[in-house]
Amino acid sequence: MSIEENLNRIRERIAAAAGRAGRDPEQITLVAVSKTKNADMVRQALAAGQLEFGENYLQEAAVKIPQLPDECRWHCIGHIQSNKARLAAEIFDVVETVDRLKIALALERHLAAIGKIMPVYIQVNIGREPQKAGVMPEEAAVLAREVTACAHLRLSGLMAIPPHSQEAEKSRAYFRALRELGAELSNTPSPGVSLGLSMGMSGDFETAIEEGATLVRVGTAIFGGRSLKKRL
Ligand SMILES: *Cc1c(COP(=O)(O)O)cnc(C)c1O
Repeated sequence: MSIEENLNRIRERIAAAAGRAGRDPEQITLVAVSKTKNADMVRQALAAGQLEFGENYLQEAAVKIPQLPDECRWHCIGHIQSNKARLAAEIFDVVETVDRLKIALALERHLAAIGKIMPVYIQVNIGREPQKAGVMPEEAAVLAREVTACAHLRLSGLMAIPPHSQEAEKSRAYFRALRELGAELSNTPSPGVSLGLSMGMSGDFETAIEEGATLVRVGTAIFGGRSLKKRL
């Protein structure tokens, strides 16, 4: 299957999942996760109408992004070390992995210097996994207020990666928990503004949509598998 065929298939599955949940498919953004995939593969997706892309590794993204047209929108979905915050501020259009005050402040400083506003998501460690990035659910409200106080950050929502499982159904309770947390925080950016939910990957994006995802991050089902060796 070509990248275009894969994308069309994913779009159909997104629409079907939205339909089951009584939601408008237009409310759901598909981010094509292009980590480890070359610029040519991104171009094929772009030719098939895909504009939003996700990258995990800063160095890889810094090489790839300049090779592609400006119309692409780049989401940072990987962990950001504070010495990389400047690069992240410069090259990305959305940062989905704000997980501590230090990173929020570092992004704010660099964004202010270049006069750029950045939509951001707070990454929540929804499964409370010790090895995983993300703020603990009970700390999300404080971080959300701190992010909101940063003039160059626009709080767009919450992002989470549930504990790994082969069964999509196992992710459902985590997606629901993120949705409930989002509802609790919905007055944080400004009263009445609801937060987006970035949740769901190749194996479980339909379940995520049923539970309220507004953004799904899909890599393998669009671009094929990744071998660890090709990571950088
Ligand atoms: C790699 C990655 C994805 C995409 O995963 P697939 O299973 O290939 O769809 C989504 N989100 C994050 C944060 C990732 O690191």
